Amino acid sequence: MHKVILCLLLMITKSVHGSDPYPRNESIDIRNYLFRLELNDSTDRIAGEATLTVRFKKSVTAFEIDLTGPDGQGRGMKVENITSGGRILTFEHIGNRVRINLPSAIQPGEDRNFTIWYQGIPDDGLIIGKNKFGDRGFFGDNWPDRAHHWLPCIDHPYDKATVEFAIVAPAHYEVIATGKKVEESYLTKNQKLTRWKTSVILPTKVITIGVTHFAISYEGLVSNVPMESWVYAENRNEGFKDYAMAAGPLSFFIDRIAPYPYEKLANVQSKTRWGGLENAGNIFYTENSVTGKGTIEGLLSHEIAHQWFGDSASEADWQHVWLSEGFATYMAHLYFEATYGRLRLAQDMQADRSKVTAYYPQNPTPIVNEQLMDINKVLSTNTYQKASWVLHMLRHEVGDQKFWEGVRAYYQKYQLGNALTDDFRNVMESVSGKDLKTFFQQWIFRSGHPQIDATWKYDAGKKIVTLTITQKQAVPFEFPLELGLEGAGGRTEKVSINAKKQEFRLSSSQKPSGLVLDPDTWLLFEGSVRELK
Ligand SMILES: [Zn+2]
Repeated sequence: MHKVILCLLLMITKSVHGSDPYPRNESIDIRNYLFRLELNDSTDRIAGEATLTVRFKKSVTAFEIDLTGPDGQGRGMKVENITSGGRILTFEHIGNRVRINLPSAIQPGEDRNFTIWYQGIPDDGLIIGKNKFGDRGFFGDNWPDRAHHWLPCIDHPYDKATVEFAIVAPAHYEVIATGKKVEESYLTKNQKLTRWKTSVILPTKVITIGVTHFAISYEGLVSNVPMESWVYAENRNEGFKDYAMAAGPLSFFIDRIAPYPYEKLANVQSKTRWGGLENAGNIFYTENSVTGKGTIEGLLSHEIAHQWFGDSASEADWQHVWLSEGFATYMAHLYFEATYGRLRLAQDMQADRSKVTAYYPQNPTPIVNEQLMDINKVLSTNTYQKASWVLHMLRHEVGDQKFWEGVRAYYQKYQLGNALTDDFRNVMESVSGKDLKTFFQQWIFRSGHPQIDATWKYDAGKKIVTLTITQKQAVPFEFPLELGLEGAGGRTEKVSINAKKQEFRLSSSQKPSGLVLDPDTWLLFEGSVRELK
């Protein structure tokens, strides 16, 4: 996910219990969604027929799914009928939940199909309307939990399923959706059926459809992944040019993280409310992302990194969304570092550090804020830039090699699944052999950052620099601090900070011309250093 302004069956184990308010249902697991949807040009009304394959883990007499009900003002979804095995079932649709009553108890381990017939005008989740050129289109925009405004589902990333979209639309449109295209058929001269189907399980936040007059470029294979650009017909030249830049980050992440998890990578111009939305295998970018000026490499890199982190290895709980956003942010920085050099990384990290320190006074909350119950508020400078900074410091803590080893091991273990912060910490500890509890506790679960006041004085007789470091915030952080001694014979020293106030003596045959805190940009902090005369 990129905020506007460009700026397997999941087995829930104890380790992935979250604390966000979504009412998880441990009795069922959705295995597959088949969404048949009929779209038309004369109204925004959609007609749906959704078949959910449900595995029962416990014997129950009813279960609930998410679907926005009619709002009394002409919007929302009205359920017409629900059937299973040829039988019509009773149900109650209250608010945004449908409770389906089972005719008899189902044995644990059994899979059953339930088909829900429904129709209505979506009040959210599927954006129907004109694009900036006045051309009509239909674009799914599900993140974080807006799928249930147009699709009956378990609308939380803890329950992943394979999905098939069977879209019946006016024949003049092209239809893209999650997965691999398995059928395109004219039903009549004016109506076309397009089916797309996934082979891997996904959370509902990143499944989608896009229907409009597209210009489509098949870019060929990039590291064996079919790459495609789908842009508005009017933006054909600019869009193909801008989206072709996706090849660089795609290859980089495949090389560094793991094979690409999906059937294709389509970069799609769309009506998303976000700057970019990391839909699995077909990323949606805001329509103004296309300029033809090649300025969206950062946006492309961020969304492509999400294909591994967020879409495949997903947070188990919305309060741990930094496992998506912090990773995507830092992975994009790492691509830029590999492509444009270390100086570029330092500049990007310094810019992010300024955002974090400016954000903090008005928002003194930790990256994982367990008090936060509104999932629409989980995106912040904390979950993007600060979390990216934490990964940067973790890299420095364990070294480049162990960092990448750990990132790969974490992905390997949690791909197609869900994780919490402790799961990532455990992997990094076992790969690095280091105890990282204090590191994660202070940076992820506690708010703030070191606010350093440093002074130094040179004793020419003893040839010693005496340095005093004071942490001004209430609770001290523990971290390594690098010090740059400038001037003739300049060098970098590293000291361990673990108290409110500490004094260090550094030998120096000459008086340094200056002293710099964190000269190589490895620490999230604010503060200054001055010489005592
Ligand atoms: Zn993102």
